[in-house]
Amino acid sequence: MDFPKLLTDVPKKVENKDLDNILAYTVRQEVINLAGGLPDPSVFPHEQLRDIAERVLKENFDKALQYSPATGVPEFKKEIVSYLSRGLGITGITEDQILVSSGSQEALFALAMTTVSPGDYVFTENPTYYVAVSVFRAFDSVLSGAPIVKGQLNVDLLEGKVKETPPERRKLVYVMPNAQNPTGASMSEETKKHLLEVAERYDLTIVEDDPYSLINYEGKTPRPLKAMDKENRVIYMSTMSKVLAPGLRLGWMVADPYLVKAVTNVKQVIDLNTNTLSQYVAAYALKSRVIENNLENVRRVYTSKRNAMVDELSEVFKDKVEFVKPESGMFVFALFKGVNTRTALEKAIANSVLYLPGDSLYVSDPQYNSARLNFTYPSEDKIREGVRRLKKTFY
Ligand SMILES: *Cc1c(COP(=O)(O)O)cnc(C)c1O
Repeated sequence: MDFPKLLTDVPKKVENKDLDNILAYTVRQEVINLAGGLPDPSVFPHEQLRDIAERVLKENFDKALQYSPATGVPEFKKEIVSYLSRGLGITGITEDQILVSSGSQEALFALAMTTVSPGDYVFTENPTYYVAVSVFRAFDSVLSGAPIVKGQLNVDLLEGKVKETPPERRKLVYVMPNAQNPTGASMSEETKKHLLEVAERYDLTIVEDDPYSLINYEGKTPRPLKAMDKENRVIYMSTMSKVLAPGLRLGWMVADPYLVKAVTNVKQVIDLNTNTLSQYVAAYALKSRVIENNLENVRRVYTSKRNAMVDELSEVFKDKVEFVKPESGMFVFALFKGVNTRTALEKAIANSVLYLPGDSLYVSDPQYNSARLNFTYPSEDKIREGVRRLKKTFY
């Protein structure tokens, strides 16, 4: 069989060797994996979820095991509205502004398919979330990135990039204002206001990807851009993956009902509806405040792990490493003096440690001395040992 002749160019366009690597090494126990982005399973509220799943299957099996509306189960959407308002200050949302998706990844894919034509511009932070980059590449968008300097997006440079493009080609601005992946940086209130002003001036639509606002370590939940958005200019994406459990595969998009309708049409031909059973489980969990009641524990465990990584990096690498201590999220993004993290990867694997080389996270001008390091999944001992193995690899 000549299988290659079956293929379009899409699999090549979205291919990500690093992602394949991460998944392959996740199963190899001796390799300390700092490359992934998994939550610590010890913080999954599994007993509550087991009880809830049992209740769902007793009380609502007829609906929970059935097909459900493409936009999402009404009971779940109602709980999302309340959750966004009480935890994140995103108020005034109505259920017709919500599209439930199979993780926020599906919503992003369906949104890109709905809005981006070949040659359209998508403006991003540089570096940015590489799985989002693959989505935009799949639809042949032109990616234009503005740098994050000392934890702040350079909005003036972003505006400069926007100005250089034909207005009808400007499609989306994809950003992670809180706990940016990979840098861990959060925009200040001024940066957020500035970004919204620029978006207004050029009539840009912003996609805010926000999995991490509640996963914060300094006692303060930063305000999402969506909470400052008066014009429905911000399309807000969030997820149960980091605050509850990624295995549920539940995310959602909040946008103007007109957009929700259009993206729903696309989502519907992808998978008809998002997993109904998961949505009922999550609806019950939100209603009984499982996430909020678990947050203190999540923050305590992750703060301790973050501190272990940050302390060990400083102690082991001294002035050879540079990073902004993350106040939220799951990663430290580190620059290592004089190191090429791409070419060093092979040696790292031989030393039984894996990280995400930073070069592939840039849409242009890659920093070859950067690496994204995850601190939520490995134990504190593994984090410290992993950092020491990095030292052995790099210097
Ligand atoms: C983890 C993460 C997500 C979550 O994706 P899901 O499909 O909801 O699991 C989305 N965006 C970013 C930036 C992430 O780090």
